[in-house]
Amino acid sequence: MTGVKNRLSAPAKPRDFGFFIDGTWHHGREMYERFSPSHEQSVTRTACCTKQDIDVAVGAARKAFDKGSWAQQSGADRADVLLQTASLLRERTEEIAYWEVLENGKPLTQAKGEIAHAIACFETAAGAARLLHGNTFNNLGRSLFGMVLREPIGVVGLITPWNFPFMILCERLPFILASGCTMVVKPAEVTSATTLLLADILTDAGLPRGVYNVVTGSGSVLGQAMAEHADIDMLSFTGSTKVGRSCIKASAESNLKKLGLELGGKNPIIVFADSNLDDAADAVAFGVSFNTGQCCVSTSRLIVEQSVADEFEHRVSEKMRKIRVGNPFDPETQIGAITTDAQNKTILDYIAKGKSEGAVLLCGGQVVACGKGRYIAPTLFTHVKPDMEIARDEIFGPVLSSFRFETVEQAIDLANDTVYGLAASVWTQDITKAFSVTRRVKAGRFWVNTIMSGGPETPIGGFRQSGWGREAGLAGVEEYTQLKTIHIDTDRRKHWIAS
Ligand code: NAP
Ligand code: MG
Repeated sequence: MTGVKNRLSAPAKPRDFGFFIDGTWHHGREMYERFSPSHEQSVTRTACCTKQDIDVAVGAARKAFDKGSWAQQSGADRADVLLQTASLLRERTEEIAYWEVLENGKPLTQAKGEIAHAIACFETAAGAARLLHGNTFNNLGRSLFGMVLREPIGVVGLITPWNFPFMILCERLPFILASGCTMVVKPAEVTSATTLLLADILTDAGLPRGVYNVVTGSGSVLGQAMAEHADIDMLSFTGSTKVGRSCIKASAESNLKKLGLELGGKNPIIVFADSNLDDAADAVAFGVSFNTGQCCVSTSRLIVEQSVADEFEHRVSEKMRKIRVGNPFDPETQIGAITTDAQNKTILDYIAKGKSEGAVLLCGGQVVACGKGRYIAPTLFTHVKPDMEIARDEIFGPVLSSFRFETVEQAIDLANDTVYGLAASVWTQDITKAFSVTRRVKAGRFWVNTIMSGGPETPIGGFRQSGWGREAGLAGVEEYTQLKTIHIDTDRRKHWIAS
């Protein structure tokens, strides 16, 4: 193994974090202690905030919004802060990546790549802040003129998950800032550090106080309180479909706040016999194993053409066996630890179900012993039937289910045989076939002869039970705005009441 001698290790003592409201750090009365999933030692301690802390944070965000210290700045001034943040993130990449790895368990090299993506999000949002505008109508008649203003929606609550703590935050936050909104962020309790580190960076970049507030602690208490809060205008939630549903209920029963929801997926990857099978096999192995499959766009259902299925599944399993699983600080590592104990159990339970339901285990299916930490080998089940639980549920682990088809119709039917519609991929050298599949499979994002590529210029989001709304790109800024239509009459009024 290379790089072992000089590689980083976990800190001798856990690092304490406060929570951040109105430009000031506060101490938690109680603390949550996070153990690194790959080192099994305490690495961070974060505050267990209360519902009262949520009220104070929302109050600060409301005051900052109403005062206009951010919303009324020009797009150019907002862009300056976003670009300055990007530049500070470049300087502090190593530090942020280090804490991300300690709490999440992903490889350091991958964490650095995600921060590069986050920087691109800030730069894209800076451009969008300058270009965001409304519309005018001069076709309403000689004297009537219409203007459509695009106004920031107000105070946004942002709830993020633990699988890409910093990247998912940054696929939303810069676009929310570009729109002129203020916010309260609640990261997943197990991975709060990098969301907190960003507070000082935004302050150094010139963000006015009260615009970015972070509360940390339990989702069922704080997240629920945010979903129910009468003074939050919009909630952007990323996580499970189950909690997404409870956010809809909470909104319905409180102030009808707008919701942005990015939820689960059971994403298909369709492989035709005419594709470059070696490239496709690499993409299939990557698509389900990247980030240990704890990825909303993970391609967890392989749909392969019958004529090449045996050979192709074998090729994929050979590649999956070669994936290097282990210590995330080792530069050779490709996939790290499973982030939480609960998720580890969920994945192992699904592997056991796959076996008992009668699917054929072609590779993986077992834990990988790497000294400390919890690791699961990339796993491939073949001969999976559409009604098996491993075929239907989002496992959120490195577990692939393989299905076979003979006609394009069957491939499309299999791809759409899910309640989700987040992402999909198709592999073929026939452009007409590829195009017709992309038009008929229900998914918010599609990759043709590629997988998980693209940048923050294009929107992200799901069809069906994968969610509501779009993040990133211009659409991701517009999402956090509302339209106001103004009519101006330049003529005298034609009277309704006879004089
Ligand atoms: P989750 O429970 O939906 O958690 C996501 C976020 O919501 C976390 O910040 C969580 O806080 C918070 N939360 C929990 N209960 C809440 C409530 N009642 N109201 C508002 N917010 C609440 O997801 P999870 O348990 O971490 O993961 C379970 C499953 O979610 C995974 O197996 C996967 O299917 C899905 N998931 C999807 C994505 C995605 O990117 N689409 C990401 C992660 C997970 P705490 O964590 O502090 O409780
Ligand atoms: Mg949960």
